Amino acid sequence: SLSRFRNSPTNKDRTLGGLLATSGFDDQSCLSRYRTAFYRKNIPHKPSRYLIQKLRAHESLQKRCGPGTNSYRKAVEQLRSGQRSNFDQDCNYLVWISYSGLGNRILTVASAFLYSLLTNRVLLIDRGKDMNDLFCEPFPETSWLLPLDFPLTNTFANFSITSPESYGNMIMNKAGVHKDNFIYLHLDHGYNDNDKLFFCEEDQKTIQNARWLMLRSDIYFVPSLFLNSLFKDELNQLFPEKDTVFHHLGRYLFHPTNAVWGLITRYYDSYLAKTDEIVGIQVRVFEIDPGPFRHVLDQIISCTQNEGLLPQTVVQDEIGPPAFNAKSKAVLFTSLNMGYYEHIRSMYWESPTSTGEIVSVYQPSYEGYQQSERNKHNRKAWAEMYLLSLTDKLVTSGWSTFGYVAQGLGGLKPWIMFRPENRTVPNPPCRRDMSMEPCFHSPPFYDCKKKQGIDTGKLVPHVKHCDDITWGIKLV
Ligand code: GDP
Repeated sequence: SLSRFRNSPTNKDRTLGGLLATSGFDDQSCLSRYRTAFYRKNIPHKPSRYLIQKLRAHESLQKRCGPGTNSYRKAVEQLRSGQRSNFDQDCNYLVWISYSGLGNRILTVASAFLYSLLTNRVLLIDRGKDMNDLFCEPFPETSWLLPLDFPLTNTFANFSITSPESYGNMIMNKAGVHKDNFIYLHLDHGYNDNDKLFFCEEDQKTIQNARWLMLRSDIYFVPSLFLNSLFKDELNQLFPEKDTVFHHLGRYLFHPTNAVWGLITRYYDSYLAKTDEIVGIQVRVFEIDPGPFRHVLDQIISCTQNEGLLPQTVVQDEIGPPAFNAKSKAVLFTSLNMGYYEHIRSMYWESPTSTGEIVSVYQPSYEGYQQSERNKHNRKAWAEMYLLSLTDKLVTSGWSTFGYVAQGLGGLKPWIMFRPENRTVPNPPCRRDMSMEPCFHSPPFYDCKKKQGIDTGKLVPHVKHCDDITWGIKLV
């Protein structure tokens, strides 16, 4: 068979357990949508009935209020004119502004979408340079792309921590919120204490009055929504398994376009389909020097061998066991640098393994450095995140949102390699993560009721501090 999984009956469920709508899409224009199930081994985490209902209801909201509708036209007209409106409608909007690296973008779109679900807002995506080149439409019979003639598009680049329209500055200037004024939500990792009031109950009530919200963010802010008493009951119902938020929302929202799907399937079918097990290794090095670095290589080797993910190599002093029934392992590297992949590949060529296993090593690209403005570069980055999500066991680099996306889509609890300090191998080099959820890197540490600092990683059992960034928080 061409793929390891194509014959498996559990993969017949092309809607991923009811997560995806069955009608309203043209199959050919987005091949990945219903074919992903053929490449995914199994679906251990089922979406809740309530989540499925909520998604169907949200799809009709997007269709009823989205671009091209009368409601959208009226809401935009009012925004453009800046005048007080006398019309009332139940169409409110959240505009996601394109910003930051691809991993960050995927995490913030998912966060924005969850917030839209909770507050019944239409989510519209500023396409930036290439959002429409990378992702199919997630909602049937409408578009989530912000129309190009949207009146504020040219001002997106000016939104910053100092914008008078930001919620933080509105609070500071004691400006009232009227439903006809838009609010800019500055949820960037460098946000200030006033911007962080977004996460407080009373502020949410105010923010929800505005018809238009503009969001610029580079953080996965979902964990803090679970600490807000306005949302927590609904969230518990939507996600009885709390560590599956990004897993389900990611699989629901992010379908590679046909160009990216081609990159994924050609690679998978050529190099990975016929192996017994695939081990993914995502190497992200946060250094100015491009590398490769000896300590990073040592970290990869000691992590994968200590944890039994890859076999050790031995000196060849006798004829090894017959190879015809040996198990095969494929290692899928992703990295901007090719040095780690080259070394490990040679290692398994030059010496036999202690177990007799056959280890083949691959890496689709080595782009050298981050080039977030180039379409082809981002297509490859997206294809590689997706390929990593198709592995059986995954090793990731701490701090990296690129790895978070892969683990979440794949439903994989990764082994995280800790970020090295002083160019030495951390001890231990890696550890199995608590959950597959992404880490929120810059959460608020604030008790909204008592108006004082508090450790938000210690309030409830399902929101804990992350292993890779100790001040971050994540769902477990
Ligand atoms: P993060 O910075 O690791 O949190 O991840 P982001 O995805 O937000 O930004 C890193 C960017 O660098 C990616 O979007 C890619 O453009 C590029 N990049 C980093 N690692 C890789 C890799 O392994 N493969 C490819 N193709 N690009 C990468």
